[in-house]
Amino acid sequence: MKLFGSENDRTRPHGTLFYALIYSGALALIALLALASHLLVDKIIAEEATTGTVVKIAARQVALSQRIGGLSFQYAQSAPQERQLLEPLLRQSIGLMRSSHEALIRGDRQLGLPDSLPSEVDEIYFGENGGLDQRVRRFLVLAEDFLRLPEDLVDPRNQGLVRLMGAAQDTLMEELSQAVMTYEEVSKRNIEELRLRTYGLIAAILSVLFLEAVFVFRPLFRNLVQQRESLFDMARRDPLTGCLNRRSVLEGAALEFARSKRYGNPLTVAMLDIDYFKHVNDKHGHAGGDAVLNRLVEMAQETVRKTDIFGRVGGEEFAFILPETDLEGAYVLAEKLRMLSEAAEVRWAHETITFTVSIGLGVVSQLDQSEQQALSRADKALYQAKQAGRNRVAAFNMDQIEAVV
Ligand code: GH3
Ligand code: MG
Ligand code: MG
Repeated sequence: MKLFGSENDRTRPHGTLFYALIYSGALALIALLALASHLLVDKIIAEEATTGTVVKIAARQVALSQRIGGLSFQYAQSAPQERQLLEPLLRQSIGLMRSSHEALIRGDRQLGLPDSLPSEVDEIYFGENGGLDQRVRRFLVLAEDFLRLPEDLVDPRNQGLVRLMGAAQDTLMEELSQAVMTYEEVSKRNIEELRLRTYGLIAAILSVLFLEAVFVFRPLFRNLVQQRESLFDMARRDPLTGCLNRRSVLEGAALEFARSKRYGNPLTVAMLDIDYFKHVNDKHGHAGGDAVLNRLVEMAQETVRKTDIFGRVGGEEFAFILPETDLEGAYVLAEKLRMLSEAAEVRWAHETITFTVSIGLGVVSQLDQSEQQALSRADKALYQAKQAGRNRVAAFNMDQIEAVV
């Protein structure tokens, strides 16, 4: 039998609550991942800022060591009055280099320096062979000792000064630069690692979104389509028997009439009415009558072609729209259904119900203006069949305008 909507998919999908829960879970996960990604980016920014500060301060240490060396040498060569001017400058540089050194190795929140150094840099400052920490301290002590020398011992060839200058020019400069480079390398590596983790998080967010699209939105959308289709289907069906309802049959009749008119193909309609159905109801109850209606629909649906339209148009009245079928063909179908009905035994509440049907046939004429004309011919033929004693098929005779039994 022909249907206007697609067959309803009876597999029951998950409920909306199920999808709502998964959807909320996935959203929460995305929010967490986004937060983690945000924190990572924050960490990258902080790491970059710290590296900048460390590099700036360490580079200043190199400059300060040079300045201390240079000022000390100048101090040694100068006249006493000039030394008085140079001394505070030297002390200031020594103090600044010491405090910067402490800040570098112990950390300084205000300056934005970390509490601990990366292990590679720590190794340079506190490694086994003395360490840069020791050398910086010794350098500063040397500078202070030099300032403390009595006037007569201040000389450019002074042993302490020679060592001080040597340290400033060679070891300190080299090692401080090494520490800066190492620090830069380590933080570059850290930042790279953090960046990779951020990409990982973004990939995770995209994956969750993709999974959500596949496992939540797609089934949810399918659910909606199915529900829409089933509502659509329900609107075209008779709730008791499940066959098409009057409106659908009439719509189908109009459509087939238009097709038949356009292509000149035969079209026959049939009206079926159960005989003395009131008696069936009276004898077996309304539910028994319903059982008969259901059986009749079952048999009709098994008998008609897929392209035929069949439905319930009244209480115990059914209509058939039979495209590509002439009167003879329709007669064969109607007669078959009549015989099936006559032979049917409907079991209901320990009783067996039998029934018969009368069928009227009407052919569509090329002169017809509407399908209603053929339908009323079928109605008339049905009336003739009833008049002639029921349990029979009658056709509206187009030539003689009378029923043929
Ligand atoms: P006839 O042979 O002339 O058609 O006699 P009839 O008794 O079948 O005709 P009538 O039109 O007098 O009665 C039709 C009955 O069909 C009356 C009504 O109670 C019954 N009927 C209509 N719809 C339903 C239904 O959905 N279920 C049941 N069980 N009975 C129905
Ligand atoms: Mg009736
Ligand atoms: Mg009847």
